[in-house]
Amino acid sequence: MNLFDLTGKVALVTGARTGLGRAMAEALADAGADIVGLGSRPMPDLAASIAALGRRFVEVVRDLDEPQDFRAIVAGILADTGRIDILVNNAGIILRAELLDYTEADWDTVMNVNLRSAFFLSQAVAARMIDAKRAGRIINIASILAFQGGIRVPAYTASKHGIAGITKLLANELAPHGITVNAIAPGYAATDNTEALRADPVRSRQILDRIPMGRWAEPKDMATAVLFLASPASGYVTGAIVPVDGGWLAR
Ligand code: NAP
Repeated sequence: MNLFDLTGKVALVTGARTGLGRAMAEALADAGADIVGLGSRPMPDLAASIAALGRRFVEVVRDLDEPQDFRAIVAGILADTGRIDILVNNAGIILRAELLDYTEADWDTVMNVNLRSAFFLSQAVAARMIDAKRAGRIINIASILAFQGGIRVPAYTASKHGIAGITKLLANELAPHGITVNAIAPGYAATDNTEALRADPVRSRQILDRIPMGRWAEPKDMATAVLFLASPASGYVTGAIVPVDGGWLAR
């Protein structure tokens, strides 16, 4: 048995158009899964790469900063694909400002996209997995700021601590239904999310000097960790927050 085989499975990946989410979707498809990509914009490049891997791709365009009927979204996907086996809550944004200037509008946007949507989408997907009596996997994308405070990112830090919390809560409540729930906590990866940091020579040097492995993560570093948590290889792992950070948290 190939412990990393996902043939016949369907994976729903949020924020799949770019960065880490795109690499995760491609890794899951490479392992055999069909992919549903959910994001606020169309994702033709991802559609092409999933098709090139010989898998089916379904696109769902929704703005996760807006109120959504997640049960209806999941029902629509199921009407098309027939199943959802894996949910990856990856969509996320970071809005930086000085603590004393941080606005309620920015707080709400970050919490809506990063935490509120992840919880209610998990709830909607889990409800249908339970109805179908089908085992499943939920994988949340946290951050090293699920463990640390960070600077100038209060809503992001709160949202990622929240992701760690709901990962454990969902793991506890869904284990009896055969659904595992885990998170990965990426360190600093070279994506749009960190463009401002990488463009600042001082911050960039400070960050690289503190990473024991001495390099920014690449999206594929996260994708393979998600593949492990989505596959039969991780059958007895639930409620874990797995750092994938080049050693950052160990320092
Ligand atoms: P990214 O390239 O900016 O990707 C973020 C994704 O989230 C985009 O594909 C975007 O899709 C989606 N998204 C943003 N706002 C949305 C909205 N309102 N509605 C629906 N989708 C929305 O950044 P990334 O680095 O890959 O980030 C992916 C995840 O990793 C995030 O949860 C982030 O917090 C986490 N993370 C990243 C790092 C890092 O160093 N890069 C470190 C720790 C954790 P659309 O463009 O289609 O809206």
